[in-house]
Amino acid sequence: MLKIVWSALLVLPTLLHAGDRYHVVFSKNLDTVSVEACYDGAPPEYLYRSDEAEPFVDYLLANGQPFDPPHRYGRMRVPELPVNSCLKWQVDLGRAAEALSHRLALSAGDSYLSNGNLWFWRDDKRRNIQIDVELPPGAALSAPWQQLPQDPDSDGTFLSFRPAATPASWTSRIAVGTFRVREIPVADSHLRLAVIGEVSEQQQQRFAQWIGETAVSVGAVYGKFPQPEAQVLVVPVGPQREVVPWAHVIRGGGPAVEFFVDETLDLSSLREDWTATHEFSHLLLPAVSSADRWLSEGLASYYQSVLRARDGRLSEREAWQKLHGGFQRGQAATRDGVDLAAATRGGWGNVMRVYWSGAAMMLKADTQLRMRSSGRQSLDSALANLQACCFDPGRSWSARELFAELDRLTGYHVFSNLYREHVPDENFPDVGPVYDYLGLVAETGMVSLDHRAPGSRIRTSIMRLEEQLQYD
Ligand SMILES: [Zn+2]
Repeated sequence: MLKIVWSALLVLPTLLHAGDRYHVVFSKNLDTVSVEACYDGAPPEYLYRSDEAEPFVDYLLANGQPFDPPHRYGRMRVPELPVNSCLKWQVDLGRAAEALSHRLALSAGDSYLSNGNLWFWRDDKRRNIQIDVELPPGAALSAPWQQLPQDPDSDGTFLSFRPAATPASWTSRIAVGTFRVREIPVADSHLRLAVIGEVSEQQQQRFAQWIGETAVSVGAVYGKFPQPEAQVLVVPVGPQREVVPWAHVIRGGGPAVEFFVDETLDLSSLREDWTATHEFSHLLLPAVSSADRWLSEGLASYYQSVLRARDGRLSEREAWQKLHGGFQRGQAATRDGVDLAAATRGGWGNVMRVYWSGAAMMLKADTQLRMRSSGRQSLDSALANLQACCFDPGRSWSARELFAELDRLTGYHVFSNLYREHVPDENFPDVGPVYDYLGLVAETGMVSLDHRAPGSRIRTSIMRLEEQLQYD
């Protein structure tokens, strides 16, 4: 009885606290957006806003009065205001897209794609926000935010969202235009794909197929897609030397992946490319501090080959060859006197070293977990347990914290030991012993497989889609 009273008391404050309401209205031709933000209780002290947004702000009002806020380092100071005050502002997306040439905003066909901090300004206190969006007829919105149930009679011009409580400094991408947002179901999750720009219906279907297949392949790591929903943006960029010249994961307001794609290519070229598998594999981990990029990039670089073997795009040997090629590039980029932690801080010149050192550590972790648990555990099962316990969308982890958690979940010290061994090391991780155990023979740079090696079955099972194998 006492318990029930307590839980009722705990619920009460959230009921009284309705949260902030943002009312967002796009103009008829979508080139301006006006926002009215009404705060529940005390208004925020600061709003995160890009330093470059200022010239495109048509007006900015606090309770109806214009104000000119001091603005530095990506945030603006809000004047002292009574409780439950409202701010109102309008941003010219059209001018911003013209002037900022792709950095913060771009236009493609009749669509605009912009960084959230160009016009969706929020504070860093993880406030509970509901966003109500009014669109002109025929227009659609793509955002990372969770969409709230819609009135069944609605014509789609009025939508409500709730952004995930992530730090306000994390970027997001928001698109508005006459594109169609396609729902792609992946087990119990769904992806919301928007193709921004003028692309034929047939090519859009190819993109949807490609994204769906890749998400299913990544979801097979532990039987479900790592996030209940995700925003996916595909931005065509014309003929390029690479299929996907640029892509990244974004986590502000909810998980998202943005791809800049050569839209002239057919489905088989999209399938052959590794980028989408790499990007979606990032979502197998929560956000990791950029100082420990070797972990997030290492995991994605490992799975980009492993998953393509599991879904049949590569043979087992080809996948090991790809990993081996990466390790060789990482080794060649490793310089004396620079440990992995310093290389990770050192910028783009260290990409190969950083990515493939992390991938080599993932291979070692996966092999050791499978070996010690006689196949009951693996990197896959460790990540599944991590997803079940620790996917707060607003938290960023250091590698040390994440490895400690993975050790706790697996009951071994595999991860912390790898951290101690390799992060302060000036050498590329030595994969020789793990190669010998798994039966990977790489003489002349070409990998061959030794089926008599003690870990030969582990080697095969890493690259095969099946339930956890038992080895004894
Ligand atoms: Zn990456």
